[in-house]
Amino acid sequence: MYCKKCGVQNADGAPTCTACGAPLTKNPYQPVGAQQPFGQVGGSMMGEKPKNYLVESILVTLCCCLPLGIAGIVFAAQVDSKWNAGDQHGAIASADNAKKFTLIGFGIGLVMNVVVFGIQILAAIGAASAQ
Ligand SMILES: [Zn+2]
Repeated sequence: MYCKKCGVQNADGAPTCTACGAPLTKNPYQPVGAQQPFGQVGGSMMGEKPKNYLVESILVTLCCCLPLGIAGIVFAAQVDSKWNAGDQHGAIASADNAKKFTLIGFGIGLVMNVVVFGIQILAAIGAASAQ
C-alpha cells in the first residue's frame, strides 16, 4: 500500500508509514465491532417474573423479626399481582423491596437471637457459678 501523505510504498498491514510516520489505515473511520448485537445488556423486558421472596419473608416473620417479615410478605404479594397486571417495573421494584425487608429482618432477627442466646448463656454461667 502507498502512503496517502507522502506516496512512499509500505508493506500491507503496516500501521504507520516508514518514511513520514503517518498512520496507514485503509478505512480509518470504520467502527470496530459494529456488528455487535444490540439489546443483550439489559435483557429482555418480557423476561421471567422476578423472585418474590415470599417464602423467605414468611420465614423471617415466623423466626426472626415480625414487622419486617410482614412488610416483606406485603411486597412479595405485590410482585405477583403487579406482574400479572403487566406492571413489570412495579413487580421488579416490589421484588427489590421484598428482598430488602427480608434481608434486613433476617439480619435483625439473627442479631436478636444471638443477643438472646448470649444472655441465656451468661445467665446459665451466672446460675452455675452461684452454686
Ligand atoms: Zn508517508
